[in-house]
Amino acid sequence: TEAALRQAQKMEAVGQLTGGIAHDFNNLLTGVIGSLDLMQRRISAGRANEVERFVSAAIASANRAAALTHRLLAFSRRQPLDPRPVDANRLVASMEELLRRTIGESTRLEIVAAGGLWPTLCDPHQLESALLNLSINARDAMPDGGRLTIETCNAHLDTAYAARAREVRPGQYVCLCVSDTGAGMSREVAERAFEPFFTTKPIGQGTGLGLSMVYGFARQSDGYAKIYSEPGRGTTVKLYLPRFYGEGAEPEPSQPAVDAPHP
Ligand code: ADP
Repeated sequence: TEAALRQAQKMEAVGQLTGGIAHDFNNLLTGVIGSLDLMQRRISAGRANEVERFVSAAIASANRAAALTHRLLAFSRRQPLDPRPVDANRLVASMEELLRRTIGESTRLEIVAAGGLWPTLCDPHQLESALLNLSINARDAMPDGGRLTIETCNAHLDTAYAARAREVRPGQYVCLCVSDTGAGMSREVAERAFEPFFTTKPIGQGTGLGLSMVYGFARQSDGYAKIYSEPGRGTTVKLYLPRFYGEGAEPEPSQPAVDAPHP
């Protein structure tokens, strides 16, 4: 059954998670222990003034270890999502300052907010952290600068799209489209990018959890996420979140919906 399959996939993800964390954590601890060891030797050799360098190194490693456990906690958090009606345009606008600081000055940020955007039903905090994760990835893909675009639109996913995408239900969604003009991904990388702990970044820089969190969030929200990428040209991640139909959240009737995107 679907529930059993989901359970098996979760167990597999937990297994990968444990292995990956143990590996990364060990590397970080090696850094901490190595620095402490050097500190101790310098102190007993009467060269305490050299110790500061090792203290900094130990603190840096310990901070990375702490960041790793935070991401792990966010990933495996048992607490259920807290879905609410969300105005994605407003949420993106409220993140503008944070995103600008995240991507740095060499990268331009462009926000394209659709008029008449439907409200969506999702956990706003999770959506924020998904957008932050996508922006960090975009920044990492554009070391020499470029453009990060966040675009919203209403989207109908038709039956044909749903059949091709398999996991998604046909219907009405709010789409958040995060694009960069960076390095892009090869087909092999794009196919595996949503896997927990899949990373092409050096140890200590990438955990491989960012996109798997984005994907997990989309699926748990009854939505969908998809990567479009071309090496050398850039990457687009489309996040589809279900339209909210509740009281007082009717779309403005004057605004026609945007048509279905192609998968
Ligand atoms: P991490 O960023 O820690 O490596 P992610 O799950 O966020 O983990 O991403 C997995 C991999 O997918 C990255 O290591 C990178 O190879 C690739 N990737 C993700 N986002 C982008 C992007 N915007 N451009 C190019 N490659 C990307």
